[in-house]
Amino acid sequence: MLDKDCLFCKIIRGEIPSAKVYEDEKMLVFKDIEPKAKVHLLAIPKNHFKLLSEMDEDRAEDLKYILKKIPQIAKENGLENGYRLIINQGDDAGQTVFHLHVHILGGEVLGW
Ligand code: 5GP
Ligand code: ZN
Repeated sequence: MLDKDCLFCKIIRGEIPSAKVYEDEKMLVFKDIEPKAKVHLLAIPKNHFKLLSEMDEDRAEDLKYILKKIPQIAKENGLENGYRLIINQGDDAGQTVFHLHVHILGGEVLGW
């Protein structure tokens, strides 16, 4: 299910362009528009949900699917030397887009 007003749902529908690096029926991975590392990808489920705190069985399956795919996608994008995954939850984390996404950061040695 997509949300008509959600930015990342618009990216999934192709209404907003993005630099896609992987797509299948359940997930999409594209380049972050404002990269915080040399490589900064966003992995999103094609089912819209806002927050990690809205987790349920179906959403957990979506997230599990994404986590299983990430190592291969990371490898294909030059991250053999390592990478960091981040999910921002809510205001204190600075979440700005309310469609669950996993940040994939790498391509350089990351500071903490
Ligand atoms: P958050 O802070 O919600 O965890 O992360 C949202 C991310 O989405 C940010 O890193 C931001 O740069 C990225 N972003 C926001 N708008 C767009 C967009 O239109 N296209 C792409 N590719 N990334 C976006
Ligand atoms: Zn959405």
